[in-house]
Amino acid sequence: MKHEGWILDLYHKAGQMVIWLKKTDGSCVRLTDPWKPKIHVGGSYRDLLDLACRPGLEDAIFVERYEKAGDRERSRVLEVEVDGDREAVGLARKLEQFGRYSKFRFYDIDVPSPQMYLYRRGLFPLAFVEAEETGRGVSWTLKDSRESIDYQLPSLREVGFEIRTEKIRKIRSFDDKLASFHFTRNEKEILALDSGDEIDKILGLVEAFRVEDPDVIMTHGGDSFIFPYLARRAQELGILDQLILGRDISPLRVYEVQGHSYFSYGKILYRETAARLLGRLHVDQRNAYVSADCGLEGLFEVSRTCIMPIQRASRATIGTNMTSLQLYHAVKRDVLIPWNKNQPEELKNSGELVTADRGGFIYQPEIGIHDHVGELDFASLYPTLMTKMNLSGETVNCTCCPDSENRVPELEFNICERSAGIVPLSLKILLDKRARYKAAKKAAVDEELKTRYDQRQAALKWILVCSFGYLGFKNARFGKIDAHIATCAFSRKALREAAALAEARGFTLVHGIVDSFWLRKQEATRGEYEDLCRVIRDKLRLPISFEGVYRWIVFLSSKTDSKVGVLNRYYGIFEDGKPKVRGIDVRRHDTPEIVRQCQTEMLDILTKARDSNEFRLLIPSALKVLERFVDSLRDGSVPLEDLVIVRNLSKNPDEYTHQVPQAIAARHLVAQGGSVHAGQQVSYILTSDRTRTALPPEVVGEDTVYDSERYVDLLCSSAANLLLPLGYDAKYLRSMFKGSQMKHAPVPQDHSIAATPPEIAHFQP
Ligand SMILES: [Zn+2]
Repeated sequence: MKHEGWILDLYHKAGQMVIWLKKTDGSCVRLTDPWKPKIHVGGSYRDLLDLACRPGLEDAIFVERYEKAGDRERSRVLEVEVDGDREAVGLARKLEQFGRYSKFRFYDIDVPSPQMYLYRRGLFPLAFVEAEETGRGVSWTLKDSRESIDYQLPSLREVGFEIRTEKIRKIRSFDDKLASFHFTRNEKEILALDSGDEIDKILGLVEAFRVEDPDVIMTHGGDSFIFPYLARRAQELGILDQLILGRDISPLRVYEVQGHSYFSYGKILYRETAARLLGRLHVDQRNAYVSADCGLEGLFEVSRTCIMPIQRASRATIGTNMTSLQLYHAVKRDVLIPWNKNQPEELKNSGELVTADRGGFIYQPEIGIHDHVGELDFASLYPTLMTKMNLSGETVNCTCCPDSENRVPELEFNICERSAGIVPLSLKILLDKRARYKAAKKAAVDEELKTRYDQRQAALKWILVCSFGYLGFKNARFGKIDAHIATCAFSRKALREAAALAEARGFTLVHGIVDSFWLRKQEATRGEYEDLCRVIRDKLRLPISFEGVYRWIVFLSSKTDSKVGVLNRYYGIFEDGKPKVRGIDVRRHDTPEIVRQCQTEMLDILTKARDSNEFRLLIPSALKVLERFVDSLRDGSVPLEDLVIVRNLSKNPDEYTHQVPQAIAARHLVAQGGSVHAGQQVSYILTSDRTRTALPPEVVGEDTVYDSERYVDLLCSSAANLLLPLGYDAKYLRSMFKGSQMKHAPVPQDHSIAATPPEIAHFQP
């Protein structure tokens, strides 16, 4: 039988790949294709022959594959078919021990089989296909392309899903009874059930899923609470076998609510074990990387482009999505995929990236306020260089082309001329598609279409941004530190050359980081900047664009040492009145609302300035805003929800030796029966109760009094984040609000960094 539709979900089950196709008529069909993962073992021919004689490995065969991406010749390796992904790892561990951890090399052990299936069949998630069920499985005809930017997607039935529990403690826990469940669509409730006993409600829920038959279920906390909770309740009531919420007739699993902690760019992140509703897509917005910023549109784009099943794509880090693209190119070339034993595809510690990044181009900014500065941005400089120069783990210092014409500047590394590297090949589609989306967005008239293109290009940009740092990771399978160093060398050269071209045209470099430049030239017109871009583009063959001229821009200093400029912290206003703010509190997701509001209002005042002189004159009015917020804090009139601070836990609550607020708050949650792990986010409010100085909002009572003075500290330091280069540090600002009465404002201590003495008359009583 033939079907036409889109690949919605796929997973491995009992020797088969199960694929759910969303058909053009809106219905869904379940297809099965026999499929078993194959692992590969390398070693000496004798050792491999020995191995092949072992009981249980009689069916192993010899095949020829490239063991390393840069190999010129194929090697003879042993191929063993296994029942599933877990069996693959199990067998590899056994054989590893048998070979005394030295005889054998293992490949294709830890690539999830749905991904491998897609790579091998030349398919991708949400691809439009024709599927013919034959006696031997499924025969696929792809009628879609990953390269396409104008693809059609099925219309998916989407619901929001939430439950409420009968709380027995202050926070909800697995011991609560189910109170009700709710389906929403477009933020309107479409279905709810709160009557009957708990069994009625759970069975009602099963029925609701069956009748409503959603393709996409959006939750807040489905992975960490909702689905594990439902499974536990059903188990307790003896009806777990009836808890079927997916399209597959298999009940939800009860698993330990124990995700794994791991590092991503120096931060430990926590991802709960995904709750899979087989045949449907569950997107947990609390647990989603991609969809949070770019919507489902961005998630689908990443999923299609990186060949990553949608639910995994939504939860995976950028590095994992990027890796999938590289694995695909390796598989296509018959290159085996080395086993990353126990190692997540992430950084070991934050130090690695910092060290690695030190090689980039940095021009120390002149901190403080500047008039008439223009900004030039290289678009995706690093990935562009990696693609153009063919920089990949196996191409930099390759053994096949020692005399290559292609060399790395300063270092004299040779670069492969013989073949394109796996990293550049993977980046190419991201760069190409992103450029096309940006052009399409500009050309589009329809607002909806514009938004769609924008979300897709933003999702791809996100992956591109990380591609560079990722090349240097120890655990990146096709990266190597040499390739990373080479990329830095090329970027330094490009930026030096660009700076020289600018200086030759009378521009002065004010600041430069990674891929942006800030230049100054008296009375320079827009045309002169555009011309400069054109020259740089022509000479360096790299994409660069003119962002605009600032009326004024403030380059901020580090919090500890006001004379050291900090890389990416600045704010300013373009000539067309558009502000640009980077690296300060308002931009951070974990900033308490009160701080965000105060800083926003201060910025609203400062951005009215047309030049640096007006800016200085407006500082007193901005400080008046600060004063107003301080007063309202001291009045006790700030609602508690504006005071919530969010922090990531870098350790488990019991591992903290210092009484930091996030640890205190986490322990309160644990005491209330909550489960809290390293990597999770914890919210809290600072209170004036001596024994409970930080309380999670979940356990805050009516009698809770917030600690106004500690919030005043936060406000002052956020104001100092804006004004430090102008002579106002947090200590000075704090001294203006000593006690409950406004005090006579002292003069800032450090005159050397104050551009002009701050206006103080305003603060005299
Ligand atoms: Zn070569």
